[in-house]
Amino acid sequence: MPDVHYRFSPAFQAPTGSAIRELFKYLSLPGMISFAGGYPPPEFFDREGLRLAAERAFAEAPLDCLQYGATEGLPVLREQLAGLMLRRGASVCADDIVVTTGSQQGLDLLIRVLLEPGQSVLVERPTYPAALQALRMAGAQVLSAATDAEGLDTDALAAQLAALPRGQVRLLYCVPTFANPTGACLPLARRLQVLALAARHDLLIIEDDPYGALRFSGAEVPSLLALSREVEGSVGRVMHLASLSKVLAPGLRVGWMVAPAAVRQRCLIAKQTVDLCTSPWAQRIAAHYLASGALQQALPVLAAGYREKCQRMLAGLEPLESLLSVSPPAGGMFIWARCRAGIDAQTLFNAAVAENLVFVPGAPFHPDQPDPSSLRLSFAAPSLEQIDRGVERLRRAFERCGIVPN
Ligand code: PMP
Repeated sequence: MPDVHYRFSPAFQAPTGSAIRELFKYLSLPGMISFAGGYPPPEFFDREGLRLAAERAFAEAPLDCLQYGATEGLPVLREQLAGLMLRRGASVCADDIVVTTGSQQGLDLLIRVLLEPGQSVLVERPTYPAALQALRMAGAQVLSAATDAEGLDTDALAAQLAALPRGQVRLLYCVPTFANPTGACLPLARRLQVLALAARHDLLIIEDDPYGALRFSGAEVPSLLALSREVEGSVGRVMHLASLSKVLAPGLRVGWMVAPAAVRQRCLIAKQTVDLCTSPWAQRIAAHYLASGALQQALPVLAAGYREKCQRMLAGLEPLESLLSVSPPAGGMFIWARCRAGIDAQTLFNAAVAENLVFVPGAPFHPDQPDPSSLRLSFAAPSLEQIDRGVERLRRAFERCGIVPN
């Protein structure tokens, strides 16, 4: 090999990869139980329904599956997605939607289009690490907003915004419904307050919502997008991202964005330079699946399945109460926990790996002010039996650290 000196762009001179993806190397170890990724479990995939949808999609329009498609996505799918949004309370039409290659792409496009390097962006503390990665690569100045068990602490946010020079923060990124990593769901009154703050301080909001359809207890709360019609000055401020990854299959890589026309148009141009279009084949499969009504039938079954898994994990963790405080979620895939025993989550993680268990230590979720005691446990992927065994391994990991429950 010639001795080539590679020069990298500033964002890639010393990039740090995703700490969660780093955990992949443990997952292939024999006997490992994972409470790490927010992955749907194998038994929740509707293989037969998707096989049929794939068969029909190809039989009906083989050339459309094989050919490039429009950058904004196939009209048949956008119609179906608008229907999904409507069922969840947001009155949206197909033209308001851009299909994206996972919601992760939607986030990346919005950041490119809306952000200038050096500009400040507010995120929840803790938040989704891949959002932090995307924001930092774009040169954003990331500021964190405090959260509690219900999500964004809106009184603290109001004080924080009031103390900053007007115009310094233009964007708020948040996961208000069953957040990653905390599982928190922002109550209605706080949602209205966030929207009012956006109007008062001239903020745009990126509402990331891959988990919202996975509610397993409590009453539905409308999205920020849906509520923006009710709060003066907030219409047009919410860019909403959603996905089929958590409710159907992440392998499809079908997500979508709802945004005002001026933002959408620019995201389309950004998308042209990224992938030209989201796989038309995958889009047709998704469109057939949604048109069959199978997702509407599956959603309550999925929610009940996640409820059972979540309850099983919470019940297993109960005897560890003196060691671990947990926040029970009303939906989504995650339980956020804190070690009480003065032990940090990375030490516990190392002991857990020795017991053949992985979870995600909380550090990568914190944009700043890391809480070393925190950890994220996902109940989504393991079976009930693996949840039981995994919780027992967690207890043994505490023991390895010299700590026993009292
Ligand atoms: N946002 C959040 C908060 C997530 O947790 C995830 C997936 N882990 C995504 C976005 C990206 O999901 P996808 O690209 O598969 O739609």
